[in-house]
Amino acid sequence: MDKRAILTWIDANRAPFEALALEIWASPELAYQEHEAARLQMDFLRQRGFKVVQKGDMPTAFMAEWGEGGPVVGILGEYDALAGMSQTVSTRPEATAPKAPGHGCGHNLLGVGGLMAACAVKEVFASQGIQGTVRYYGCPAEEVLTGKGDMAKDGYFSGTDVALSWHPADCSSVTAATMTAMVSAKFRFQGISAHAGASPEAGRSALDAVELMNVGANYLREHMVAQDRLHYVITQGGLAPNIVPPEAEVWYFARAPHDGELVSLWRRLVKVAKGAALMTETEVQTEILGGCYNTLPNKVLNALLEQNLRSFAGPVAYSEEEMRFAREIQESLPSGQREAALSRMPEGIGTILNTAPLPCFDAGKFVMGSTDVGDVANIMPTSMVWVASWPLGVPHHSWQAVACSGGSLGLKGMVLAAKTLAGTVYDLAVDPSLVRRAREEFEAGRKGRVYRPIGALLSAAGSE
Ligand SMILES: [Zn+2]
Repeated sequence: MDKRAILTWIDANRAPFEALALEIWASPELAYQEHEAARLQMDFLRQRGFKVVQKGDMPTAFMAEWGEGGPVVGILGEYDALAGMSQTVSTRPEATAPKAPGHGCGHNLLGVGGLMAACAVKEVFASQGIQGTVRYYGCPAEEVLTGKGDMAKDGYFSGTDVALSWHPADCSSVTAATMTAMVSAKFRFQGISAHAGASPEAGRSALDAVELMNVGANYLREHMVAQDRLHYVITQGGLAPNIVPPEAEVWYFARAPHDGELVSLWRRLVKVAKGAALMTETEVQTEILGGCYNTLPNKVLNALLEQNLRSFAGPVAYSEEEMRFAREIQESLPSGQREAALSRMPEGIGTILNTAPLPCFDAGKFVMGSTDVGDVANIMPTSMVWVASWPLGVPHHSWQAVACSGGSLGLKGMVLAAKTLAGTVYDLAVDPSLVRRAREEFEAGRKGRVYRPIGALLSAAGSE
């Protein structure tokens, strides 16, 4: 057996994958509308001998499977873009079309990188007679944090032993940080309209209820755990000042370090909404739009990914032209942003591009963002790796990230990620004790609780 066959195969066969990633980059599609990206990937995988399965009623979700027997390793892909982030491959802000979507999170790379790893595993397992099954998950709608939770409801993840994922970033490192659990919900208040000047006593203002709910939520902040977050926007507040608003709506995101703390925070937020309705003699309706679990880092899988990232797949070399592009992208960042990013990372990572993958440096930390990879991480052992696809200091969801995701910097990150993921699947297949240990750690972390989608978990808690 020769694991290095993965590297040889990927280096010799990268062209069609790179073309696919750029094709998806060039026609960005928003959450749940990724019809072209999903179709291109399903066709690509069918042509290469994968069995493509679709369940439920989401046309842009799918699973592609190859192999026989265990272990069954899932690789999570994404391909949705962000609204209004259109950008050319250039070092200055320049939209391809005004207000069009763009790949500001590099999901064109994320999906195809995972798919490339699955194809490399298939080729090498087949030629070396290695037993195991690889599943590539085409996951829609990561940017609204609900695609994987919806796939869980449709039963996509049953029978898979462990899951791996990656994400483009400005540095290469396994992430052991926990990303927060989160819920997105709308609170709709119903009051009574009246002439605001002539007969205010006859009116009951739904807008007052929204404002009082926000006051209550802002007082709640003092008594939340440190990593809890509340953010809101008023999405409806009335039509004219001389009409007491009969309808008003506020949209909240609530985040907490773990699902248990999110349940507590949610219960209290629902009480605040009910209190506002009581004070204003209005009615409140709550609609949970979706949400996700916190991630659950897995030390066994993290160690494997880290070893594959640092000792097997990397490092990466960049050309003069790529360095020039990267330097100009960095110079376009707001002053101090690169320095602030570097201050959070270990010494010796470079100044423009992170060429040598870093050791894991964020164990025990919390990232104040959320991902629906958290749902999968609460269903099975799951681990994620960040891979440098743009210069140091470039944030996600920026025009600079779109520009890099459509060119060679992004593609080099994607290839490094594919090698890391494929190498990790190889290790899991040749040493069955790894899957067993990863599962033992997972079971200890979940403490026997059964996974329920976050919406169902919170609906039950909020109506108590
Ligand atoms: Zn993303």
